[in-house]
Parts: sequence; C-alpha cells; structure tokens
Amino acid sequence: MSAYDAIVVGAGINGLTAACTLAKSGKRVILLEARSEAGGVASALNGSALDTATLSEKVVNHLSLKSYGLKFYSSDPGVLVSDLENEPFVLYRAPERMRFNDRECEAAGYRRYRTFITRISALINELRENKPPNLISPDLSSVALLLKSALRLRLLGKRDMTELLRVAPMCLADFLYEYFESETLITALALPALVGEWAGPWSPGTATNLLLYECARGLPVEGGSQEIIRALLKAAEDYGVTVKTDCRVKSFETDGDRVCGVLLESGKALNSKVVFSSPDPKTTFLKLLPAGVLESDFEWKINNFRQRGTTAFISIVLPESPRFKKPVADRVDFIRITGTVDELEQAFDPVKYGELPERPALDLQLHHQNNGVFIAGSVNFVPYCIKGEDYQAAREQLSATVISMLSELIDNLKDNISETKVWLPVDLESEFGCSYGNLRHGEAGLDQILVRPAPECARYKTPLKGLYICGSGAHPAGALSGLQGYLAANCCNV
Ligand SMILES: Cc1cc2nc3c(=O)[nH]c(=O)nc-3n(C[C@H](O)[C@H](O)[C@H](O)COP(=O)(O)OP(=O)(O)OC[C@H]3O[C@@H](n4cnc5c(N)ncnc54)[C@H](O)[C@@H]3O)c2cc1C
Repeated sequence: MSAYDAIVVGAGINGLTAACTLAKSGKRVILLEARSEAGGVASALNGSALDTATLSEKVVNHLSLKSYGLKFYSSDPGVLVSDLENEPFVLYRAPERMRFNDRECEAAGYRRYRTFITRISALINELRENKPPNLISPDLSSVALLLKSALRLRLLGKRDMTELLRVAPMCLADFLYEYFESETLITALALPALVGEWAGPWSPGTATNLLLYECARGLPVEGGSQEIIRALLKAAEDYGVTVKTDCRVKSFETDGDRVCGVLLESGKALNSKVVFSSPDPKTTFLKLLPAGVLESDFEWKINNFRQRGTTAFISIVLPESPRFKKPVADRVDFIRITGTVDELEQAFDPVKYGELPERPALDLQLHHQNNGVFIAGSVNFVPYCIKGEDYQAAREQLSATVISMLSELIDNLKDNISETKVWLPVDLESEFGCSYGNLRHGEAGLDQILVRPAPECARYKTPLKGLYICGSGAHPAGALSGLQGYLAANCCNV
C-alpha cells in the first residue's frame, strides 16, 4: 500500500490549495516542489507584485486562511492612474469615491458601469466558482449546472441578459467607449484584463476578460501574495500535508492508461492513488508524461493550447519615500500608467513582431518599508521570443524605459534607485517552469475560457486515470484565485 492517497506536483498557489483541500478531507497528501521555496509564480518579486484582489472567498473560507494570519485591506485602496501628461487621478471601485471634477456625464457612466458589473456578478461568479460541466459526456451534475446557469442568466432579466450576451464577445475598447469619454479612465480599467494576454484593447472578446476580472474582484491581501503563500503553508502544516521542496518530478509513473505515481529526479519513485499536477498543461502532458501514452488527438489539442507570455516584471528599490511631482491625496499603494486607447494598442502591437514596446503599460504596487519603498509590478507587453535574442539588452532597455516613465511622476526616483531587476517571459519560464513564460499557464481567449485546456479535462480529470490537473491552465481562466486547486481537489473521489 502506498504511503499517500494523493501526490500534488508543484507548490504554487493552486498546488498548495489543492493539497490543503485534499488533506482537509482526510487524504494523506504529499506536495512536491521543484524549487527551494513554495509559492510558484506568485513568489516572484518577493511575492509583492500580484493583484491579490481576486483570491477566492470560497478558498479563504474553506481553508480558514484568516485564522492563519491572512488579512485584507479594510477598504478598496484605490489605484493612482496617470497618462504622464494630465493630472493623475485615483481609481476606486465605489463611484461615490471617484472625483470627476464636475464631469457629470463621466460620473453617470461610471455609476452605470458599476451597476452592470454588480448585477451580473452572481452569474459570472457561479460559473467561475463551480466545476465546469463535462461537455463530452455530460453527467447529471453537468446537466444540472448548465440548467442552473441558464436559469440564472434568465433571472438576470431581459435587459441585463441581452446586454451580457451582446457585450461578452466585444473588444474592450468598444465596450468601454459605450460608458466613458476619458481615454485614461478606459485604459486604466482595461489594463488588468489584458495582463498576461496576447490581446490589446481592440482584440475581439476582451470585454469578457474584463467582466471576469471585475466580477472576481474583492479586497486585496495586505502584504501581497507572499502572505497568501505563508497562510497556505501554515494551513498545509495544520492539515498534515507533507511538503517537500527541492524535489523535482522527472516524470509520471504509468501502468497502462493509469498514472500511479511519480519518478523524482533523485531517482526515487513514489506511488499514490492519484496525482495532481499544477505545472502548466504543456509541462504536465508533454514533458512529464512518457511519450506515446496520450492519444494523438488530445496531444494535438495540448500542443495547440496557446500559452504565449506577454508580460515582463520589474522591481525597483527606492531607499526613500517617493515624492510625487503632482500632490496626491493619500498614501499610494498602487500605480497604473496607461495612456490613450491607441497608445495601449500600440504597446501591444510589437509583441506580434518580437519587439519591445516604446511605451509599455505599467501596473505597479508600492510596498512602503521603513525608509523607502519597493516598487514592483507588470510591464506590458513584452514578447517571449525577442528579435535578435539579446535578452540582457532587452532587460536593460525595459528597465531604462520604466524608470524614465516613472520619473515623470516621481521627483526623487532616477538618481536614488538602489536596485532594479527585470524578469522577461523567458525568465519566468526558466525560473518557474511556465512554458513560454505565460504567467497564467494559458491565454484566456474566448475559446480557451470555456474549455480549458481541452474538453477532455473539463472536470480536472484527464484522459489518464488517476491524473488530475489543478493549475492555472485549468478552469477558471485568469486571476489569482486558488479556485483551480480547490475545485480540482473537490472533483477527486479516491
Ligand atoms: C509578478 C507577477 C504578477 C502577477 N500578477 C497577476 C495578476 O495580477 N493577476 C493574475 O491573475 N495573475 C497574476 N500573476 C499570475 C499568477 O501569479 C499565477 O497565475 C498563479 O500564481 C499560478 O499559480 P499556480 O499554482 O497555478 O502555478 P505556479 O505558480 O506556476 O506553480 C507551479 C509550481 O510547479 C512547480 N513545478 C513545475 N514543474 C515541476 C516539477 N517537474 N516538479 C515539481 N514542481 C514543479 C513550479 O516550480 C511552481 O512552483 C502574476 C504573476 C507574477 C509573476
């Protein structure tokens, strides 16, 4: 008899969540992580640069993460938005906190936008937070879920239902132009929906990405994703998960069409009733499985699952508090630098040709420390394969561009920086093993939202018995939620 009921591969947010959920339900679980620390992609940049506002309440409550020290902002902290030309403003979710300087039409648009998001949230979150239906061979629960979702869609009422069906396939720009005139407001709202995507504001279907993001959003975690990792590790210890770091899985062990364990790079083999894999779909199916065990049709689908990285990250250490050129009301924790819709599209364009953007869109978080600040966040859009393949030159060029952009906003930046680091998509791949540097393990185009990564994996099961997927390449697409790990663990009945 094997010592474990379940082996979970990879201790990112989802591997940790799956392991805790399985152990809480009484399973004997071992979690194997290749790196020397847990956290996966979410631990990049000291785990400080992630948008943690989409962590699922379901996961937090099920694993009692607040009792393990997880704390949330008490109110929406707001994001300082700048186009580097006009007066910056602070973007809040609550319309009553926004300052529109007597532009009543913009204020009314913002109220209408927020009201629409609130009205559709229950439906969208029900689809996000439940196991996806099995479309290939629908069982009773899949049919029930489809009927329930259809009923909830109908219950939205004729106006919201037709509106949701109308806007979902739209591009972000067209959708947001229906509400707003301010280009900077439009791009500030649009950017989080584009981080990690191979898409610009004029790409079809991107309105869905925005709706998914907005509906998932709650309050951010104090201290960033490092605190989520810390809480999950404490929960894992309490629930009795054995966590092994520096423990890379070389391959899955198979017995016919069943996965029955893993072979570690150390040469040791471990057996278990089930294996949960949180690395991305290409790694799981094309690298960790021995060749020849997958049916060619399924292998073709995984090969064609799009995982192109488009996001780089930067961290900047400023050993003194930032002095903003234009006075800002409160302490700033989040900065978004975008511009016009066309500028955002032009930042995306060069990705297609392996080039760097002249003016990337920035989504940054400021961590205030004793006498200074750690600035970290995403630099959009940066290709995985850079023309000329001089990746060090690309890091230097991006770093110089970002510093120059930030210096237009912050007075005491340029000459005082004590450290800068840039991570390109290729670095995310080499450090965390995400194929092609896609930080969400797969793009969220319309076709890759509904079935993810392939219809055969609809309920986290795979064509191989005993093998489940539980990473970001599974349902639901986008956002740091922990839902993939949680839902996958709940689909397993060993
Ligand atoms: C700086 C930054 C900002 C981000 N911002 C956002 C954001 O704003 N919104 C958002 O939604 N997402 C964001 N992301 C992405 C988000 O963090 C990820 O989608 C999420 O953390 C992925 O978690 P995961 O557990 O699914 O996968 P991962 O974190 O990739 O975990 C997989 C784990 O498996 C391990 N592993 C791989 N191969 C093996 C093997 N053979 N053996 C053992 N272990 C293995 C890896 O080392 C890794 O720890 C951001 C990412 C970064 C880096």
